[in-house]
Order: sequence, then C-alpha cells, then structure tokens
Amino acid sequence: KSTRNRELVLSIQLIPFGDEQKLLISRDITQLERVETMRRDFVANVSHELSTPLTVVGGFLETLVDMEHLDETQTRHYLNLMFDQTNRMQHLVKDLLMLSKLESTHTAHREEKVDVPHLLQDLLKDALSLSSGRHRLRLNLASERWLLGNEDELRSAFGNLVSNAIRYTPDGGEIVLQWEEWEEEGVFSVQDSGVGIEPQHIPRLTERFYRVDRSRSRETGGTGLGLAIAKHALTRHQARLEIESTPGKGSTFSACFPARRLIAGEASN
Ligand code: ADP
Repeated sequence: KSTRNRELVLSIQLIPFGDEQKLLISRDITQLERVETMRRDFVANVSHELSTPLTVVGGFLETLVDMEHLDETQTRHYLNLMFDQTNRMQHLVKDLLMLSKLESTHTAHREEKVDVPHLLQDLLKDALSLSSGRHRLRLNLASERWLLGNEDELRSAFGNLVSNAIRYTPDGGEIVLQWEEWEEEGVFSVQDSGVGIEPQHIPRLTERFYRVDRSRSRETGGTGLGLAIAKHALTRHQARLEIESTPGKGSTFSACFPARRLIAGEASN
C-alpha cells in the first residue's frame, strides 16, 4: 500500500523472509527533494525580484541625501524614479499574496453566478485604458450564458491574459476577447497579433517567474507571476488553460470550462 501526497511518498510492503513475512517501510525522498528544490528556487527568485528595485530606490535616496544643492526639477526626477520602483514592488507583493491565496487549500473558494457578459465588458474597459489607443480591441460574445465560479479569481485569471496580450503586442496590433459556448465547454479566449512564443517555452509558461524575455517582461511591468495565477485560478474551477502560438504572428490563450459550470443568465431566467 502506498500513500502519496505532495510532500511524502511512503510505501509499506510485506516481503517473504524465510518462513516469516517482514514489514518493509520505505520512504521515497525524490518527491521531498523536488519540493525542497522548488521552495528554494522560489525564495531565491522572490529575493532577487525585490532586491533589484530596493537597490535602485536606496541609490536614489543616497543621492538625495548626499547632494547639497538639488533644484526642484532634479528632486522631482529622482522622486518619480523611486515612485516607479515602489509601484513595481507593490505589484509583485500583490501578485505573491494572490498566488499564495490560490495555492492554499485552506482558502475559502466561494462560488456564485458570474455574469460573464458584464465581466467581459469590464475587462474590455480595463484593456482600453491599458492600451491607451495603441491597439485595436474587439469583444465577441458568442454566448450569453453565465458561469458558476468565484468572480475575483476569474477576474484575476482573465485580466492577466488580457494584460499580457496588450504587453506582448506591438502598437497597431489587434486583440480579440471572446466568450463561446460549445457542447462540452464554455471558452474564454484572448487572441493577439503580438510577438508570439517559440514552442519549446509553452509548457513552462505557467511556472512561477518563468519568462521568455526577461527584459521585455520587466519593461512592461510584468512580475512573472501572471500566468501562474491564471493557471491556479482556473484549476480551482476545473478549467484548463490552452496556449496556441506562432512566433512573430501572435498567440491565443483559452480558458476552457466544463459545461456543467455554464448556467442561464439571470435576465433569461
Ligand atoms: P510576465 O509578468 O513576465 O508577463 P506571465 O506569467 O504573465 O509573466 O507570463 C510569462 C511569460 O509568458 C512572459 O514573460 C512572456 O514571455 C510569455 N507570454 C505571456 N503572454 C504572452 C503573450 N500574449 N504573447 C507572447 N508571450 C507571452
């Protein structure tokens, strides 16, 4: 018999030993080691992500303290740079808290009827403000059904897919948000005409802090946690994340929900 959970693999075997039988209890530590390595990598990544903006802020503060004659324009310049770095740290901490909430099996996962058309209209508004006229944005609602789920978690998962589409699509590109209903599932997808992703990276994109292009991710305000958050939020809804991409042409990220989660909208009840 063996019991298996995330951290421990324990097997108990009865083995013949002469006329008797002996009980052998063994513990497979490969799983334990894997978990420990992941934990260590995660702590190293978080420390690194926080130490960079902290060093920058520290440097600017030192300059402000040491310089005797700073005019107002210079002071404002340094304060603005520090403000950007502080925003970056706040964003990272917010994503870390969200991720830890989603990963915890103890966090309550309340479900309600989520008005999908309304949620997508909200996401489109956010997208319009994030893009500030740099992209053509479209919303296709091929179904008026609602979803049984947690609105905050869905908003966060879908929001990350939409903001990624904007951040990885050059100016002038097109982004389509779509909600469709098939026999087996309801699908929310975000299609962009952006930079695309080489196939070897796709299986790793939902790992925490995995980025194809570090500098582009940072420049556009990425924390490296958006897809990990989306994946966890979707898993809590028994939904899967599908990624299709053609380098240089664009990508489509789809969240596929089982049909049993689709319900009639309140208006049509
Ligand atoms: P980040 O904050 O770096 O965007 P994510 O977890 O949201 O972190 O995404 C992980 C990586 O996946 C990104 O760094 C980027 O390389 C790639 N990626 C995500 N969405 C897209 C997209 N729509 N187009 C191209 N690459 C993407």
